[in-house]
Amino acid sequence: MASPKAAVPLSFLKLEEHSVARLIRELLGRLGEDPRRDGLARTPERVDQALRFLTSGYRMNLHQIVGGALFEVKYDEMVVVKDIEYFSLCEHHMLPFFGRMHVAYLPRKKVIGLSKIPRIVDVFARRLQIQERLTQEVALAVQEVVDPEGVGVVCDARHFCMMMRGVEKQHSGAITSAMLGAFRDRKETRHEFLSLVNPAGGKY
Ligand SMILES: [Zn+2]
Repeated sequence: MASPKAAVPLSFLKLEEHSVARLIRELLGRLGEDPRRDGLARTPERVDQALRFLTSGYRMNLHQIVGGALFEVKYDEMVVVKDIEYFSLCEHHMLPFFGRMHVAYLPRKKVIGLSKIPRIVDVFARRLQIQERLTQEVALAVQEVVDPEGVGVVCDARHFCMMMRGVEKQHSGAITSAMLGAFRDRKETRHEFLSLVNPAGGKY
């Protein structure tokens, strides 16, 4: 018979209160490994720590991260932050996907501290994701906190679930984009953004 403790649905417990390590130890056994052997003895705790870090975006608060880093300015040219490295986990296989993101916006009244943009990317990358939603969520978050005329995001990715499993290797790189406001409505704005992140006129 299951212990009364095991009857509590996991979803009602905070991650902090529950050991992921125990599940990993069981997983190792089910994969045919001996979780007690030297090399694996501390692995469950390490995986626990790693997974908490890789999903820490769930516990981040967008507005806390932005803090006071919004500044009123009279600047209405495009702001572009290029080549933001990110690492995420695909929600279908819990395997990594990673790549670079380019984020741009057209200020209305405010600009945001440039270092905050990569931190906004991490809020959404450090979760179980699909590349399309990650791209969209970053665009919507910048729109929400900066309230600009528009936002453009381009994201490229390499997916381990495709690279490692020997399927569709030739399609293992994917590019997604999200265009809001002026980036969606004005062809020139969109083209300016794409030419800035892609000077060679290649990938995007
Ligand atoms: Zn996958």
